[in-house]
Amino acid sequence: MPEEWQICIIGGGPAAHTAAIYASRASLSTLVLEGFMANDIAPGGQLTTTTHVENFPGFPDGVMGPELCDRMRKHSINQGARVLSETVLSVEGTSSPFRVVTAERVILAEAIIVATGSIARRLTFPGSNTFWNAGISACAVCDGAAPLFRNRPLAVIGGGDSAMEEATYLTKYASVVYLIHRRDTFRASKAMQKRVLENPKIKILYNSTVVAAHGADTLEKITIDTHGTQSDLDVSGLFFAIGHEPASSFLEGLVAVDDQGYIVTRPGSTCTSVPGIFAAGDVQDKRWRQAITAAASGCMAALEADAFINHHADCHATGSIDLFLPLPLSPPSTPRVSQKN
Ligand code: FAD
Ligand code: NDP
Repeated sequence: MPEEWQICIIGGGPAAHTAAIYASRASLSTLVLEGFMANDIAPGGQLTTTTHVENFPGFPDGVMGPELCDRMRKHSINQGARVLSETVLSVEGTSSPFRVVTAERVILAEAIIVATGSIARRLTFPGSNTFWNAGISACAVCDGAAPLFRNRPLAVIGGGDSAMEEATYLTKYASVVYLIHRRDTFRASKAMQKRVLENPKIKILYNSTVVAAHGADTLEKITIDTHGTQSDLDVSGLFFAIGHEPASSFLEGLVAVDDQGYIVTRPGSTCTSVPGIFAAGDVQDKRWRQAITAAASGCMAALEADAFINHHADCHATGSIDLFLPLPLSPPSTPRVSQKN
């Protein structure tokens, strides 16, 4: 017989562990399947790939990314969640209870919280790995304020809304921001483009690609190819803003996703198209993509999953749920899984 849990949380980053803390404290039997190098990311999520995190509340002097991840994991366990380093291969069933399959086991869960995050796309060229986290980054909001980048020339690669947003954001710190785009037109919204085009600190390099990065201990220079002509540009920072890949493919169409693979959730909620399956963090958020916003949506997911399990609250991407109003008490269509001892 498969193991039975009330809540199965898939993922191991800030969204997953915040959901686990809230679910455990609501006395729900809670299993976290944090993955085993799923998408080449260690349990703990994207923050395991960075150094200083300086914008997570409660750490006034900053905290190292891996340490913050360890603390969140320990917090989940201390509140009663069980955490297994297993990657979920598939989720089966369109109504509760759902079957969750890993290489080691199959479990049944009354509610699922998908918190599998996303992966920032990175470019590979000579020097790109050497200067990763030493001048090269994929998150301006996370790293832009670092002393290394203050009053220095910086560069952003990309032509979408993220690139516009990151270039604009970096002008607060940089002496100049080069926006490097491989084509001669941006795909970003007109409003975001306007902000960039009107900003005197941003210089746009169209039809250009970065082909190499150079420096001693940290990044000092990049080589750019423009229509086959190469030139060097002094920069202390280079930010990839070329999109993210949400980790939703293992669900194989079970829940609705948008054209880029992000799980669709009802605005202001974590309900997906399938009642009983909730999504939190970067796998459903292509805009904010911060540890604190991922954690916040993990909290919402646990509260909504609790309402679904204990009050049979109807919750799906187009439906409505109000945790503070009397909820319909109609029985669920399939039997619920009993609480694990
Ligand atoms: P993630 O952190 O992406 O975690 C998802 C986890 O789920 C991963 O461990 C993954 O392996 C696992 N997983 C994936 N698929 C499966 C599966 N099928 N089964 C089981 N597990 C699976 N934000 C900040 O607020 N401040 C910062 O300073 C900051 N710095 C950053 C630096 C870098 C280099 C990067 C890349 C991001 C940074 N961010 C920062 C962004 C922040 O890390 C993310 O917004 C946040 O981690 C998203 O949390 P999450 O829980 O949604 O998912
Ligand atoms: P996008 O996919 O929209 O844009 C990615 C950009 O990176 C494109 O300009 C693309 O070039 C470029 N690119 C991709 N691969 C490479 C490569 N190998 N080499 C060089 N350049 C490359 O991603 P975003 O992250 O910008 O946006 C994702 C979604 O999030 C969008 O829907 C966007 O609207 C939304 N968003 C909204 C924001 C807001 O409203 N404030 C803020 C941020 C994101 P090309 O154009 O040639 O394909």
